Amino acid sequence: MFREYKISFDKLPEDEKELINEAIAVRKFGYSTRSGAKVGAAVKTANGKIYTGVNVGNVTSTLNVHAEVAAACNAVGDGNVKLTKIAIVPFEENTDKGITQCGVCLQFLSEFADGNFKYIVADEKRETVYYTFLKDIFPKPFRGQLRGVPSKLSKRK
Ligand SMILES: [Zn+2]
Repeated sequence: MFREYKISFDKLPEDEKELINEAIAVRKFGYSTRSGAKVGAAVKTANGKIYTGVNVGNVTSTLNVHAEVAAACNAVGDGNVKLTKIAIVPFEENTDKGITQCGVCLQFLSEFADGNFKYIVADEKRETVYYTFLKDIFPKPFRGQLRGVPSKLSKRK
């Protein structure tokens, strides 16, 4: 069952405040000529590194890259394939609707994360923060097993 939690920025652990601050810092670089949307994201890896990413739109729309995917790609490109947390600062002015993440990003991130991966959504005002865990928002990621494709990912929980 989907669950999300609301917390004030001040009550977050320091590393999560840092993730949000990093996501806010890059959000201005979000690129979309069609919508003008700007999204920033920052992922934390199992060895404690932080990588950021922004949305990169394309005139075709179908080739858009979401900030979460961009951040994960930056981590993987530096040899870090185990992610533990992400903070996202979406394009909405406020996050009072809670967490509304796209399935493409959830599937993409689940390649590099287990169910305890923490999903944090904040706004630039650093007021209300929502969080959940991958196991609660995306409990059964595709692991390749449906097609009988041998995959070491299918053994992961
Ligand atoms: Zn997405």
